[in-house]
This record gives sequence, structure tokens and C-alpha cells, in this order.
Amino acid sequence: MSKKALVCGAGGFIGGHLVKRLKSEGFWVRGVDIKMHEFETSAADEFIQGDLRDPEVVKRAVDGMDDVYQLAADMGGAGYIFTGDHDANVMHNSATINLNVVEFGRQAGVKRIFYSSSACIYPAYNQMDPDNPKCSEDSAYPAEPDSEYGWEKLFSERLYLSYMRNYGMYVRVARFHNIFGPLGTWRGGREKAPAAMCRKVAETSAGGTMEMWGDGKQTRSFLYVDECVEAVRRMMEGPFEGPLNVGSEEMVTINQLAEMVMDIAGKKLEINHVPGPQGVRGRNSDNRLIREKLGWEPSQSLRAGMEKTYAWIAEQAKEAGIAK
Ligand code: NAD
Repeated sequence: MSKKALVCGAGGFIGGHLVKRLKSEGFWVRGVDIKMHEFETSAADEFIQGDLRDPEVVKRAVDGMDDVYQLAADMGGAGYIFTGDHDANVMHNSATINLNVVEFGRQAGVKRIFYSSSACIYPAYNQMDPDNPKCSEDSAYPAEPDSEYGWEKLFSERLYLSYMRNYGMYVRVARFHNIFGPLGTWRGGREKAPAAMCRKVAETSAGGTMEMWGDGKQTRSFLYVDECVEAVRRMMEGPFEGPLNVGSEEMVTINQLAEMVMDIAGKKLEINHVPGPQGVRGRNSDNRLIREKLGWEPSQSLRAGMEKTYAWIAEQAKEAGIAK
């Protein structure tokens, strides 16, 4: 009998990739999401379209499962989580999902639960200097995330780890750092920087101007989605509960990211820096602990991942009739 895995958030970006990975490893997979996947038919054996804030949906989803991957969250790019306009929803919706999944998972006798937290839990005071951000796992406290999204993630990390301590549940907690790749949101306001840059370059003629939020000197690192899924699987099978950073240590400025995309596209554009939500000044993954515990680190460069992502977004833009 193959093992049964539930992917919560299977209609989303990373969840969709994870479903395919689990299928390729021989798992029987159930997906659950409030929406169907935007860009492909889910590879899951069974897909429940339902709201994980509803206990009845969660009970149905976890029933009979060996493993649960909890990736569902009310989230988005900087345009969604840093404006403050969605704070109540972000906190209420994601916390309710997590409270439901862990408790009904426990009641159903689920064997292992994976939870995706975020680099957004790290204190803003350690991320003021774009050249020297600090994101080692133990630097999370004293806590001061720069968004309610980060606070909810911190609460939920603690929630899962409490269930591990008090109920002996097998729990794994990862902190994802800016995951990108094909089949992710690329327009509409919830897209992240790599997808936004690809879209802007794809929809602007050579020699034209693209807008960028902020001065572009803020730094980040970005991890290609296949690498993320590999780390998730290693964590689930591995000996350490976490929290562990899952990210890349290849830090770039947003200006460098834009230049990279232009270079891939073979198009030179002017950048017009405009005011907009940006998040912290600097952030980079610190992979010392995950290297030590699991021997994992990214296997390819940012450029290699961006090439695949640009190719996919350029194709989407073409189909949408907005490519230049
Ligand atoms: P995503 O938005 O594509 O996927 C999340 C999915 O959750 C969506 O499909 C959404 O419909 C679903 N969802 C939201 N509310 C729901 C509800 N009430 N009931 C059922 N489903 C619901 O995001 P993603 O990029 O695939 O991220 C997956 C997880 O990883 C999230 O928890 C996110 O916070 C975390 N994470 C992602 C990144 C990143 O860079 N992509 C970074 C850090 C953490």
C-alpha cells in the first residue's frame, strides 16, 4: 500500500509542485484548496475544493492520511501583505487554517505534519542593513516581524511545535525564503519580485521604462521551487524538526535582479523607481543549520532558475496578448 499524503494549498504555487513530486515518489496524494490550480490540472489522486477555515472540510481532508503538508495561507507579495489593508484577514484566515489542521490532524491520527513558515518571521531590526541581514534560525527572538503575516507564521510555528511536545506528534517546520519559478502568480498584485520583474520586462518594449518599488538597493535571495520541494522532502524524512531556513544564500539587490531578467530577455529597459511597499532593507537565507542537519543546499544558481521562470512568464504574457 502506498503512503497517503495530503497537501493543503495544493491549488497554489509550491503546493502544486509538491503534489507532482510526491506523485513521482509513489505517494497517493490528496490535495485540498479553496481554489483549483490556476495554471494546470492538479496531479493529485483526489482534490477537495474547500475552505480549510471550515472544520468539516479539514476533517474530511485529513481522514486516513499518513502525512500532511500544510502550505495553505492567506498570503501574497509585498503589495498584499505590507500595505496593512489585509492584516485582519491574513491573521484570522491563516491562524484558523493552522489551528484546524493541527488539531483535526491529531484527532485523525495523522503520522507526520510539515508546516511552511516564512523568512518574514525574522526581526525587522536585524534586516536594516542591506549588506548584512541576519537570519540565523536562533535570531527569531526577541521577535519583531515587520508584518502581521510574519507574526501569524511565528504563532503557527509555535502551535505545531507545542503539539509535538505535548502530544508527541511528528512535526517539521521550515522557514521558506522567497520561492519562485514557473506556475506561480505572475500578475494581479500578489506576485513576488522575481515574477513581477519577469512580467514587467516581458510586457515592455526594448528601450521602454519599467517601474520598480523603492530604490532597488534592497537585497534579497530567491530559491527556485524545485530546490524548495527537495528540501521539504528531506526535512520530512530527516531527523530534525526545525525550524530550518529553506532558501538561497545568493543575495542580490532588486536592481541586480531586474538587470538579470533584462539580460535573459535580451532587452534593455530604463528603471523608474517609484514609492511602494518594499518590506525590510536586506534579507538573505542562512543555510548553516540546514547544511549541518540535512546536508542540503541549493544545487543551481539564481540565473538558472530565472531563465526557466522568464521563459514561462514570457509565454503567459504572449498568450494574454500583453507581450512586447
Ligand atoms: P500560494 O498562495 O500559491 O498557495 C497558498 C494556497 O493556499 C493558495 O492556493 C490558496 O488558495 C490556499 N488557501 C488560502 N486560504 C485557504 C483556505 N481558507 N482554504 C483552503 N485553501 C486556502 O502560495 P505559495 O507561494 O505556494 O506558498 C505556500 C506556503 O509557503 C504558504 O504557507 C506561504 O506562506 C509559504 N511561504 C511561501 C514563500 C514564497 O516565497 N512563495 C515564502 C515563505 C513562505
